[in-house]
Amino acid sequence: MERIPDELIEQIRTTNDIVDVVSEYVALKKQGRNYFGLCPFHGEKSPSFSVSPDKQIYHCFGCGSGGNVYSFLMNIEGYTFIEAVSQLAAKTGIELPQTGSRFENNTQKDEKKEMMVIHELLSKLYHHLLMNTEHGKKAMDYLLNRGFTEDVINRFQIGYAPPAWDTAVSFLTKRSMPVHLAEQSGLLAKRQFDGKYFDRFRNRIMFPIHDRNGTVIAFGGRVLGEGEPKYLNSPETKIFQKGKNLYNLHAARPEIRKAQHAVVFEGYVDAIAAFRAGVNNGVATLGTSLTEEQAVILKRNAQTVTICYDSDRAGVEAAFRASQILQKAGCTVKIAQMPDGMDPDDYIREYGSDKFVTDIIGASMTVMGFKIRYYRRGKNLQDEGERMLYIEEIIKEISQLPKAVERDHYLRQIASEFNLSLDALKQQHGQTQRQFQKQQDSSPKNRDNKFKVQPLLQKPLLPKYHNAERMLLAYMLKSADYAQRIQEELEEGFNLEEHQALAAYLYAFYEEGHPPDVGLFLQRVEDDRLKKIATELAMLTISDEMSDQAFYDYIKRVSSYPLFLKMQEKENTRKEAERQQDWALAARIAVEILELKKLL
Ligand SMILES: [Zn+2]
Repeated sequence: MERIPDELIEQIRTTNDIVDVVSEYVALKKQGRNYFGLCPFHGEKSPSFSVSPDKQIYHCFGCGSGGNVYSFLMNIEGYTFIEAVSQLAAKTGIELPQTGSRFENNTQKDEKKEMMVIHELLSKLYHHLLMNTEHGKKAMDYLLNRGFTEDVINRFQIGYAPPAWDTAVSFLTKRSMPVHLAEQSGLLAKRQFDGKYFDRFRNRIMFPIHDRNGTVIAFGGRVLGEGEPKYLNSPETKIFQKGKNLYNLHAARPEIRKAQHAVVFEGYVDAIAAFRAGVNNGVATLGTSLTEEQAVILKRNAQTVTICYDSDRAGVEAAFRASQILQKAGCTVKIAQMPDGMDPDDYIREYGSDKFVTDIIGASMTVMGFKIRYYRRGKNLQDEGERMLYIEEIIKEISQLPKAVERDHYLRQIASEFNLSLDALKQQHGQTQRQFQKQQDSSPKNRDNKFKVQPLLQKPLLPKYHNAERMLLAYMLKSADYAQRIQEELEEGFNLEEHQALAAYLYAFYEEGHPPDVGLFLQRVEDDRLKKIATELAMLTISDEMSDQAFYDYIKRVSSYPLFLKMQEKENTRKEAERQQDWALAARIAVEILELKKLL
């Protein structure tokens, strides 16, 4: 593993403001000295996730997660520590030392890097061929005819792969790039009879697919003119997982975060068409249906997600499934509906950009409104049987709505539409809802949720000595002087193991000569449980100094706790002796207890 000097790690940490870094994932609002937002690590409706710019730490009062800027990235991106450091170093232009040979270890990582370099190079080549050469002219004309502008072509780095079999092969070979990695990436293939490589993407308009950092990791290629297949996309590779990436996320993210709203399309062509129409918070799935991972990514960046899929049967089914996945991830979901059989690209070309923005995206339906239409598809509502089936399906959906007002609204709508008595509907709805509740209560996931929510609402009262330890530690985090005084006063240390461990880290930290700095201190603490406690204590609002009275009260509570335990133990033995009618023993123990009491 590479070794990065501590000073450098610290320099990188202090040049990346935690508020900026967290803001890329969580919408934060300033409240007093700290910032608050919805915790990205657990589902919640009201913000209990706080970030302190002074201390450069975060802490969630709901799930307890906490740490400094590195822990945040490690938790949210699944980075290793080194990855988190490199990521932030790159952001601020700080150079990390290159240690160890590239070929010694980390082969996997190096291969990924090289694959990315290959994609970047080819993307530049294809874009150049489209924009500046005779080869690209036909492709350019085609794009301009379809309403693409040069701006759009530049922004999406669209390119062109000529009909030749060796454009990419010879380009990469000339640059001594590892061609076998280009084959693994699905850019090249190998001829069976002589083992020579050839280009897989030929005579295609090339759409680079970027990861969240803006690095090209795959391509989508649309054939120019006739030819099969019409769309050829990169396969899954070490650097490209279709279900974990979203097309255009890297470019649309600032807009999405600002608006707290993302629009999801089914393919890059639609996302680009929508961008041309002025929808610049659009992303697209990459040839698979929306996955839970993608939903989580969207949730991190936006509260509301509008699904804008084709309005053919497959599209509607896919939108239905996507809406459920997104709701489960905690998003507010809306569904944009195109006239039957149209996709966004068709619609924009037929009706224009303005109508797309106002009549399609702007007029998106709620999920319930969409479901009402969805269940109606293919049913003849004149037929009593089908009508009853439809009403049943809708009532089932209504009973799952979280708000009573909403449930009432839709019940009334159904009652008036089908001329039914509202009372009868409510009765049926009540039954369905009870069933639904029952299912919910018995599902293990739900039980888990309840378990998690409870301590949040009602933190159990901590024993006095426990609370005293927390207060002392909170002051120790703030001041080296307090740490020293407490270390001297508490000869036996803290009673709770994790508090004692935290104190030991702190004493060592101050002994190294550091000033109080929780953000830096957390760097030393490796145990996640200790990190949580430290960030929680650091977030406590306490005065700069405590009175002597408070100080000694806390010290006494902590230091006398072992005595207190001993007394309890003796008290039990005394009772046992009495029960055995061993009065002499009972009396002796009673004296011992009195002696102990004097010490308290
Ligand atoms: Zn949380």
